[in-house]
Amino acid sequence: MTSNPFSFEIVSPDSESSARAGRLSTPRGDIRTPVFMPVGTHGTVKAMRTEDLASMGAQILLGNTYHLYLRPGHLLIKELGGLHKFMNWQKPILTDSGGFQVFSLGQPGQNEVRQGVTRKPLVKIADHGVEFRSPWDGSKHWMGPQESIQVQEALGSDIMMSFDDCTPYPASREQVMVSMKRSLRWELEGLQIRQHSHQALFAIMQGGMYTDLRAQFTEQIFEGMHDSLAKAQSDEEKYLRQFQGIAIGGLSVGEPSELLYSMTEFTAALIPAHYPRYLMGVGYPEDIITAIDSGIDMFDCVLPTRSARNGLLFVWGGKLQVKHAAYKKDPRPIDETCACYTCAHYSRAYVRHLLMSREILGAILGSIHNLHYYLHLVTRARLALENNEWGRFKREYWAVHNSRVLPQK
Ligand SMILES: [Zn+2]
Repeated sequence: MTSNPFSFEIVSPDSESSARAGRLSTPRGDIRTPVFMPVGTHGTVKAMRTEDLASMGAQILLGNTYHLYLRPGHLLIKELGGLHKFMNWQKPILTDSGGFQVFSLGQPGQNEVRQGVTRKPLVKIADHGVEFRSPWDGSKHWMGPQESIQVQEALGSDIMMSFDDCTPYPASREQVMVSMKRSLRWELEGLQIRQHSHQALFAIMQGGMYTDLRAQFTEQIFEGMHDSLAKAQSDEEKYLRQFQGIAIGGLSVGEPSELLYSMTEFTAALIPAHYPRYLMGVGYPEDIITAIDSGIDMFDCVLPTRSARNGLLFVWGGKLQVKHAAYKKDPRPIDETCACYTCAHYSRAYVRHLLMSREILGAILGSIHNLHYYLHLVTRARLALENNEWGRFKREYWAVHNSRVLPQK
């Protein structure tokens, strides 16, 4: 037994790949990995009640620091008892650092760039943080490593993420190096700022699409962490001066799949095995299966809920666009092999009708199915690893996998 509030243990490593099943212990209970974390951007996984998420096996949810800071405000959430109580979810919550949104939402959108719209950028980057404007009311704000940690502490999340500069894609070597330098400094500052050992802090590995820069970044983060650890006096302080997990950032930002896969494999191998590894913002089911094989333990993505609202539904082996006319009279469930509430009670024709009529229930039923699909897929992967059947599971998955959207001509 360890006295640390957070610990990670590899339960079942695969003998032929880097995949592993593990257990991440937190003060709010154990998380069995690999794990998929549904995204609750504004303190809610869109269209889902938390009791439904729990009943379909969600072990941990993701909250969004940037959005909750702007609306309704982290201090209001703290006053009302913290994010868990506010959103009625007692299992673990991971919060992102806000960095990704501060940068990405501050830039003019691609459509605006194409249309030649010149908009004053919302973002001003300085050495110690970022100035940005609220997209809601134009008010000016400042966020740096200190503010990001303070907001996440006020929200009371169980796992906090380091404030970093997520390098866009494509980016030149020089751009990546500037952004890496900033991330490195900000992330190591976070180790000095954090106050509470009941909240874990994860580092985020950057380095763009350059393997040597990724290797360099990883080395520097661990060097910096060991320096800060060497100065720590008490056990508590030692705990606070370390990262409890490592995330891989700067991927799934528009690069081709092959590059995502090779960079994930390369970066995961740089992270010592005893850290939980979290691949941020990934991805399609086939991306997740591939990344588990590279030794990734944690995933989050808005795809299951966002796609559901657009009628893109995941089925064993592929995906279908339920709004297509081919499903107008289809009495079958979305996926005949699926055990979710939607598939038990409703037809493709009905779900299609709801989505075509823009009924709220369409988003709800689609989200239930897609989240069930993702959670169930990752659970199956974990069980396969625990039973030493990962090789067989992969073969079965890839045998039926089809990346095209149904119906096909
Ligand atoms: Zn279903």
